[in-house]
Amino acid sequence: MERSFKREVEALRLGSGEVFRGEGILAVTKALLQAGVSYVGGYQGAPVSHLLDVMVEAEDLLGDLGVHVETCTNEASAAAMLGASINYPLRGAVTWKSIVGTNVAADALSNLASPGVLGGALIILGEDYGEGASVIQERSYAYAMKSSMWLVDPRPDLPTIVTMVEKAFELSEASHAPVMMELRIRACHMTGEFVAKNNRRPAYSSRNRIEGPPRFEYSRLAHPPVIFTQERLKVEDRLPAARAFIREQKLNQVLPGLYDEVGIIVMGGLTTSVLRALKRLELADIFGESLIPIYVLNVVYPLVPEEVRAFCANKRGVLVVEEGSPDYIEQQINVELRRADIRTKVFGKGVLPATGEYTSEVLIKGLAAFVAETRPIGLDVTAVSGMALAAVDHKAAAAKAVGELPMRPPTFCTGCPERPVFTAIKLAQREVGPTHISADIGCHAFATFAPFSLGNSILGYGMSLASAMGDGGFWHNGLITGVTSNLFNKGDGILIVMQNGYTSATGQQYMPSSKASRQGGAPGMDIEQTLRSLGVKWLRNVRSYSVGTMAKTLKEAMRTAERGLKVIIADGECQLARQRRVRAEDAARLARGARVVRTRFGVDDEICTGDHSCIRLSGCPSLTVKPNPDPLRTDPVATVIESCVGCGLCGEVAHAAVLCPSFYRADLIRNPHIGERFMHWLRRLVIGRLGGRAEAVS
Ligand code: SF4
Ligand code: SF4
Repeated sequence: MERSFKREVEALRLGSGEVFRGEGILAVTKALLQAGVSYVGGYQGAPVSHLLDVMVEAEDLLGDLGVHVETCTNEASAAAMLGASINYPLRGAVTWKSIVGTNVAADALSNLASPGVLGGALIILGEDYGEGASVIQERSYAYAMKSSMWLVDPRPDLPTIVTMVEKAFELSEASHAPVMMELRIRACHMTGEFVAKNNRRPAYSSRNRIEGPPRFEYSRLAHPPVIFTQERLKVEDRLPAARAFIREQKLNQVLPGLYDEVGIIVMGGLTTSVLRALKRLELADIFGESLIPIYVLNVVYPLVPEEVRAFCANKRGVLVVEEGSPDYIEQQINVELRRADIRTKVFGKGVLPATGEYTSEVLIKGLAAFVAETRPIGLDVTAVSGMALAAVDHKAAAAKAVGELPMRPPTFCTGCPERPVFTAIKLAQREVGPTHISADIGCHAFATFAPFSLGNSILGYGMSLASAMGDGGFWHNGLITGVTSNLFNKGDGILIVMQNGYTSATGQQYMPSSKASRQGGAPGMDIEQTLRSLGVKWLRNVRSYSVGTMAKTLKEAMRTAERGLKVIIADGECQLARQRRVRAEDAARLARGARVVRTRFGVDDEICTGDHSCIRLSGCPSLTVKPNPDPLRTDPVATVIESCVGCGLCGEVAHAAVLCPSFYRADLIRNPHIGERFMHWLRRLVIGRLGGRAEAVS
């Protein structure tokens, strides 16, 4: 796993009255235990991976409480876990990254939402929306509406988030519907504190099992004819029950303000951003006291018509701050006001953009536009407009002063085992011509950027067949959706499986073919064996750093007359994980006085011609350029910087692509043995006698 969570696990043990300090997503983890959750599961993905990572590391604590934890192979299997709450009074929570994870889980979620639940069912969604996002920009809101699941979007401060986790379980139980909680990237990673409560032992758990035989109730199956009753229950029973609970428990908040002929209706998760923007316009103070009343929707679905009407009545205009498209909330508010014949003008998309993240800058402009349109009595609108201009103008001025900055596309880590595979593809394409490449989700998607620019489409995690998917994607979806379907349909593609040992992009979590697991030993599932058992005949396992062999294997796969799926397993441990492991091992060896070798590559300045073909075939961040030390040559030369991990790709590329011989390899030996010391002495002596600098040899 990417990092240790020992300190965070300790925080999960805090008892009543103690202060929890940490990230939003870890506060959620603690809140689950305080709420008496019986089981937790999920699939890793930013920004909610830490929830599951911490739960996995807190095995002792959870075992003591009787909480069952599962790291699921995809979001569908995580959603299916919630089936335990359909028939039994068990509180369960699962987590994943949305929208992609919710798409994968959609079938199970529909089948869960239709019969409804007895025990509280909570889905923590990492709403990966906005400038830092890594997935398609869609909203989870649509799923809430279509399946009658409630969507909580808590105001991003730790006490509110924690309270909303507990209330979400109660809401689920009161209305018999699953509840989703969306947490944006910033909410997950913001830090704060809250006063903890004791962890609650679940009423029923692995330590205290429910008595009696398994419950059979036909009405709890998502199956005709009961689905017709379930549809009615969703609309006629569960929805009113949810609205009543939200109203009675005051889950939404109204922040009063001086200029009460106008108001703002905001998704809970955007409250802090709105208050900050109002502060920049001198319409709120640093403690969040606003001059304009704000209705904070900690539950964004369902809306509570009585609350909407009460907030909007007697206002000339309200601004709906709803990030993303379509404007589901704005439309519902308009409908509600028209139904109640309330003439408040609704602003939203128009003064605010229809798409994109509502950053501080966007909100400042939108709020200024709203007050300019509504002109609250007593408010100096010209001054507000001036402040808005001043607040956003400096950015343009700074951009002008700095000039155009070069693009910095994300790329593989230094020494990544996946990079050489794309180098090999580029080399193979020189001979076989361009090929269509269906890329997949994972680190290898970086190959779509320069210098490789390989990958014609990306369809989803594990959906790429052919041509390249990671081992994480293979187990997530690729095995069934890709491989089995291809074999069944007698396809003729080439699949490259990047076997790096972890789901690396999300923090090196273990998966079925990892060499270790959270229980210690290897899970024992093998990609090659699995593929062979399905009937894959053409299968090669190639060390990913062997560029020449990889290029040759690719050409063979493309040219062979043999029909059917051809699989190349590119084998090489994730370098990030390897470096963490090797660093610790080397430190231990050095402490014992044992020999440690660190391999580095370098470029000889005098030989390098400065054509940079090595960089175009590698893209390693440690292989860069520097000014040419030769005053008679102006082209910068290639150079390898200190961060090189000595993966060997430089040497392999120079060899496989028949590049210039400027690359050299150096082994830096700590605690060398006597023979190596002697050879070093001898080399220095000979070079010194020949007139060279002895220091040049190490
Ligand atoms: S995390 Fe691992 S697999 Fe991903 S880019 Fe870095 S080294 Fe490569
Ligand atoms: S050997 Fe080359 S490709 Fe590998 S880490 Fe060093 S500079 Fe990067």
